[in-house]
Amino acid sequence: MSDHLEGGCLCGEIRYQITGEPFEVYHCHCTICRRAAAGAFITWVGVSTDDVNFIQGATKIYASSADGRRGFCPTCGAQISFVFESDPASIYFTAATLDDAEAVTPACHGFTGETVRWLHIDDGLPEHSGNLPSVDRKIARVTERGNERGAS
Ligand SMILES: [Zn+2]
Ligand SMILES: [Zn+2]
Repeated sequence: MSDHLEGGCLCGEIRYQITGEPFEVYHCHCTICRRAAAGAFITWVGVSTDDVNFIQGATKIYASSADGRRGFCPTCGAQISFVFESDPASIYFTAATLDDAEAVTPACHGFTGETVRWLHIDDGLPEHSGNLPSVDRKIARVTERGNERGAS
């Protein structure tokens, strides 16, 4: 991987840059991702928000659940980003909007309990029926720290 990744939406209004190493790259098959992307699944690239620059444009934010905010281009509708309400220090980008989508390598599948039946996974990567355990742990750690701060 080069020293940074760049990507953008279909119409070019939104451009972003990732300067740090992704902590997680995975396919999410959940029904919310499916509808949001209008595709069978979304491949997410998780990075620290410290390692991200929006070079151009601003995403429109949609709260797709109590714990999730999705960013998309207000002009062409391309889905760009996702942030867990409980983990605002991390942001996930859609690998499909990277200029070089092959610069990242997915490590596993999440929410395969919701995979559409006509999609057949045969890449041999680990499958999780729900959220990735690593992502769950990350959110739990952040929430715990938040609660501790709140209590003190
Ligand atoms: Zn656009
Ligand atoms: Zn999902």
